Amino acid sequence: EELAPTGAGSQRAVLRDRRLQHLREVLRARVGDEVGVGVEGGAIGKATIINLDAQAAELELRLDEPPPPPLDVTLALALPRPPTLRKVLQQATALGVKRFALFRAERVERSYFSSHGLHASALAEDLQLGLEQARDTIVPTVEVHPEHFGRFVRERLPELCEGRAPLVAHPGAATPCPRAPIGPATLIVGPEGGFIPAEVALLKSLAQAIDLGPRILRVETAVVALLARLSP
Ligand code: SAM
Repeated sequence: EELAPTGAGSQRAVLRDRRLQHLREVLRARVGDEVGVGVEGGAIGKATIINLDAQAAELELRLDEPPPPPLDVTLALALPRPPTLRKVLQQATALGVKRFALFRAERVERSYFSSHGLHASALAEDLQLGLEQARDTIVPTVEVHPEHFGRFVRERLPELCEGRAPLVAHPGAATPCPRAPIGPATLIVGPEGGFIPAEVALLKSLAQAIDLGPRILRVETAVVALLARLSP
């Protein structure tokens, strides 16, 4: 399944990038084959391969279906290490998350917020991979909050939670993670080393602490498990 960018109104698309590689090497596609496609921000559907060689694939598109419905969960995530962040962005995007807020916490490495830290292009690619995996086309937004944790919680988190069920995933919380349907939610997930007690106290003043069971999960596993439970 591939997303194929194309000009407005055009019924054809040419692929030359990693999607061409995906067609040839993963799908082992041939001329005449039909593959799943979508246009960023728009419809999804099928495409027939008209030409295919090592340089390019030409596709004829029939885009007549809406993308899958989003999962109305805003994911507020204390920044994990970049390889973990990449997995989380891909997987949460594939599960339908449309808004990410990445924030600083005491146990987040400060170097992420330096000039070598987060690269917008790498993040955009992760979102794209997640969308393609799920045959989705609506690109999520990602906001990064390098400010101090307390300031993020006071000045931005309330808006992110407005009109939504605010949940903070915290091992050992008395309330188990709810199962869908709970409506729109904002899910707060901690850093790899967990929140420090003062952060937990502050977050609990804004959000319901929820537990996923007796196993302490890695951030990327916890996010998938939480989103799966909150999915309809
Ligand atoms: N030692 C840390 C602690 O006890 O908080 C572990 C942190 S865990 C690797 C990273 C984040 O994943 C946690 O802050 C929490 O948001 C989420 N998480 C992992 N396992 C969880 C569980 N069983 N219940 C709720 N949240 C969990």
